[in-house]
Amino acid sequence: MNNALDNQELSERLIKNIKNMKFDRKINIMEVCGSHTMAIAKYGLKGILPEEVKLLSGPGCPVCVTASSRIDAIYRLAMRKKVVIATYGDMIRVPGSSPDISLRNAKSFGARIKIVYSAEDALDYAKKYPDEEVVFIGIGFETTSPTAALIIKDAKRENIKNISILSLHKVVEPVMRFLLEQPDIKLDGFLCPGHVATIIGAKGFDFISRDYGKVGIITGFEPLDIIEALYMILTKLKKGESSIENQYARCVNYLGNKAAVNVIKEVFEPCDDVWRGIGNITNSGLKIREEYRNWDAAAKFDLTYEEEKSTACKCGEVLKGKISPYQCPLFKKICNPDNPVGPCMVSSEGSCAAAYKYK
Ligand code: SF4
Repeated sequence: MNNALDNQELSERLIKNIKNMKFDRKINIMEVCGSHTMAIAKYGLKGILPEEVKLLSGPGCPVCVTASSRIDAIYRLAMRKKVVIATYGDMIRVPGSSPDISLRNAKSFGARIKIVYSAEDALDYAKKYPDEEVVFIGIGFETTSPTAALIIKDAKRENIKNISILSLHKVVEPVMRFLLEQPDIKLDGFLCPGHVATIIGAKGFDFISRDYGKVGIITGFEPLDIIEALYMILTKLKKGESSIENQYARCVNYLGNKAAVNVIKEVFEPCDDVWRGIGNITNSGLKIREEYRNWDAAAKFDLTYEEEKSTACKCGEVLKGKISPYQCPLFKKICNPDNPVGPCMVSSEGSCAAAYKYK
């Protein structure tokens, strides 16, 4: 029997066991990572759960949680002469505080936007064009912040002065704590993000059971990974146990990647940060340390951020797991991938985009 058949048999067995589970109360499980949200929608995994169990999307899509005031500031920066914005493609169409503020629109007015696939691409570009002023938009969690930190170190070591990083990086633990402490959000457990766990280790999620008595299963991104993690989490909940388990042991160890954690700490320090639609969360962001100030775009260009404006978009409620995209009055009627009102419809990891694409 080959692996595929093995996997199919195992999946079928796990799905059958999950479907047969009964709970005498409502159970809410949150998947924190945008890649999990997409995989769950793509493979229809909500459909394998008992009816008392709800799977909620969380705030793990980096594009979706980037505050609109930061998009506005990037837009203003992009309009400056000589500045080249180097960014991941998903950021291009994200609207800021109004629909006409986006990098796509900035580009139509002559702004120079370069799509990159990594922080290293941005550094290579800066080396190739020393007369240009490259600003790399650093978004993402502990998975992407180490590479941003490395290019800052490289730029300093090689004395490359025409690149800076706008750090909009975020940290997973504070936002999970924030959600666990909201009186109106009831969570029983988490599918924890496997990518982040490769950096911070399983230990980085211990607080979920230690401080809140909840369950967390670190999991990968294949359908079988998620099915197995759902089975593990529901089995724990059925037994009334709370612990952190590592389903993704082929990539994640307990202590994580020490070198990556160290480079994050060396270049960045924690700061309070605003999450789109959610608000300010203490120590949930990463700012560039004083020692690397010359490579900090916020300092270099004296960037300021305005107050977040409220809009009709319900991304904040979606990201907190309070509503599903279908409950947003704009979903499909006004907001769709061709006319995204909020970032959750733009990003390839956004809950609204996933719901639109795979429903
Ligand atoms: Fe925002 Fe559109 Fe999602 Fe509604 S459907 S929450 S407007 S992105």
